[in-house]
Amino acid sequence: RTFYVNGDFVAEENAKISVLDRGFLFADAVYEVSTVLKGKLIDNKAHLKRLARSMSELSMAPPCSEAEIEAAQLELIKLNELDEGLLYLQVSRGVADRDFAYPAKSKSSLVMFTQVKNLLNSPMAEQGLHVISIPDMRWKRRDIKTVGLLAPSMGKQAALDAGVHDAWMVEDGLVTEGTSNNAYIVTKDRKIQTRHLGHEILSGITRHAVLKFAAEAGYTIVEEPFTIEAARQASEAFITSASTFVMPVVNIDGVELGDGKPGPVSKQLRLIYIKAALEHQDL
Ligand code: PMP
Repeated sequence: RTFYVNGDFVAEENAKISVLDRGFLFADAVYEVSTVLKGKLIDNKAHLKRLARSMSELSMAPPCSEAEIEAAQLELIKLNELDEGLLYLQVSRGVADRDFAYPAKSKSSLVMFTQVKNLLNSPMAEQGLHVISIPDMRWKRRDIKTVGLLAPSMGKQAALDAGVHDAWMVEDGLVTEGTSNNAYIVTKDRKIQTRHLGHEILSGITRHAVLKFAAEAGYTIVEEPFTIEAARQASEAFITSASTFVMPVVNIDGVELGDGKPGPVSKQLRLIYIKAALEHQDL
């Protein structure tokens, strides 16, 4: 597998970053994960736009132009002959002697790698996910996609230790999102409900596309927070992310939703999303 590090395409053993990199010392770095289907990046323009916003919110200088980032992404996909999987991209503020304040001068670093993954034919899409609820212990700017991921990492591990697939995080009784995905319920009157955008959640690229497709399919969208009790009583639930598309949730805190099988709305939205992603690169 070939990696990308600051302009160079190198083997893993040569893909190295300094111990003084602020991404390593302060989690002073932002990232994006884009989907690759049939060798093509899906909705990458939107991912690069969100990356620019994350950097801007942190006054982090871009490592190079957006066109140069995209050219490097395409080259890496080609070199790794990636057909289906993920492209991970990370920008950190770069190397500086350790100090909390942002360095006056530092060169942002850009690293990338690819991961082969079966996205279209995921067995979990047939079975549906089981999730548990956990307190949301993250910081208060979850709209910035930083690599400070220890809280969701602890949540994911707690879910696996409990014998389920993932965790939904709850703050003040209301669901924020999954450990690495946006969370939705389908109410008894068939409305699709998901938390509104703000500092409390990440503005998912998949969320944006799926809400657009759902509205086009005639669903009423309610962008309001819901309680974990409402989720346990919903007729369906699902998550979205670049790596899972639309993935049904069939069990929350041991409570089965509906008949415990992926619901019709989740299944329909998954099909619509996948069809669009295979037909168009920008959704
Ligand atoms: N919320 C969180 C906390 C995430 O980590 C992710 C995945 N990066 C998402 C939502 C989904 O975002 P996207 O659809 O852009 O992958």
